[in-house]
Amino acid sequence: MWELIKDKLKTYIPEESFKEWFEHTKEVDSSNGVIKVVVPDSEVADFIKEFYWDFIQKAMLETGVNKPIEFIPSNSALNGDSLKQQHGIKTPNVSNNLTKLSLNSDYTFENFVVGPSNELAFATCKAVAESPGTVYNPLYIYGGTGLGKTHLLHAVAHRFCELYPEKKILLISAERFFYDYVSAVKSNKFLPFREKYREVDILLVDDIQYLANKGGTKEEFFSTFNELFDNKKQIVISSDSLPNDIYQFQERLVSRFKWGIVADIQPPELETRIAILTKKAKIFNFEIDDEAIYFIATKLRKNVRELEGALKKCGLIARLKNSKITVEIAKNALKDVIDDNDVITPDRIMKFVADYYKIPAGKLKEKNNSRNIVLPRQIAMYLCKQLTNLSFPEIGKAFGNKHHTTVMYACNQVENKMASDPKFKRLVESFIQSLD
Ligand code: ADP
Ligand code: MG
Repeated sequence: MWELIKDKLKTYIPEESFKEWFEHTKEVDSSNGVIKVVVPDSEVADFIKEFYWDFIQKAMLETGVNKPIEFIPSNSALNGDSLKQQHGIKTPNVSNNLTKLSLNSDYTFENFVVGPSNELAFATCKAVAESPGTVYNPLYIYGGTGLGKTHLLHAVAHRFCELYPEKKILLISAERFFYDYVSAVKSNKFLPFREKYREVDILLVDDIQYLANKGGTKEEFFSTFNELFDNKKQIVISSDSLPNDIYQFQERLVSRFKWGIVADIQPPELETRIAILTKKAKIFNFEIDDEAIYFIATKLRKNVRELEGALKKCGLIARLKNSKITVEIAKNALKDVIDDNDVITPDRIMKFVADYYKIPAGKLKEKNNSRNIVLPRQIAMYLCKQLTNLSFPEIGKAFGNKHHTTVMYACNQVENKMASDPKFKRLVESFIQSLD
């Protein structure tokens, strides 16, 4: 029953929050008319009750589940490790005095596929795990959702714990920091809070954008940050946006972020996506055809989490059919996942280029040869050749029935200009990146 409620909750609350608070919860027993749910620790239980209770009630109403719920911390004295083991709730086996660090054992550097889109983030994370507080401090990792920020933070934690078992580490979501701070304010007990956050050798805070509009918590974070920084302790922060773009973050905090290094993660290129799928297939023990890998990698381009989800879905269906994952299975399995809007069409390309040059997209199809139209049209034709499987005549047709030699000429012109003008080359490459 809890699973039903969880499925509903997933639709109301942000993905990251769901992962943080609900992913590791599990129903253990619902005898005596009470739904018993194991959560990793008592703080999670408190947080859920305090901040998500309204949502849970809404989910219960909508699913028709009408029973009291009891949250049982898996680390409570009564339940102890046996419960955790029984329900697959992991706390890492670390020798330092870490109790709150629940690391995903798959999120290691070894399991992270490196490509041009993430190599800076990967290298800086490795460097701080190995030489904390010296090279890049603070380290600010930013990138869109599902691109590996949390994975890298966990990887830092794994490596750091291996290398420095005697040192203290704290990896926490910004939401958790917020909750701890609010609890400290409420109970007027700042000492344990400050001990927890300030007496560490490395502090990793995931999804810092969550604090953007949280006044007091932001101040507290700022002073935590300063104290750690002044003591040469390593700080690693992840976010879905650049420091400057986090609305309402004070200037002074933003400029402090910039003292260290800002490393971005971009959506992975095709080759990296293929390598990620190959690696994950191995981890999940799926047998998969190369063509199926290629198929999935070309259909899902923006988000590694979705890529992984797609692979799992194919794997499940293949297992049911007692088969390996073939292109047919993948095509079928991913029918609903593949977003037609995501397919690159000449119209999408024309609109994109026209928007950039601030001209109406329709002009590119006209017989208009004024200077401010010709170049955007040539670029758009070139992009069609690069990003779609269309032939020269087909592209010509899409541009208001232009002759195929016009398209060939356009591609040639753009290639020549790219070869002689590095600025232009960068511009066209950025178009390709944004569209792909
Ligand atoms: P974010 O925190 O940026 O939203 P996550 O770290 O949760 O993203 O990553 C989503 C999923 O994608 C995870 O399962 C992670 O292991 C996987 N992933 C992301 N990037 C890579 C990569 N370069 N190599 C292997 N797995 C990756
Ligand atoms: Mg994350």
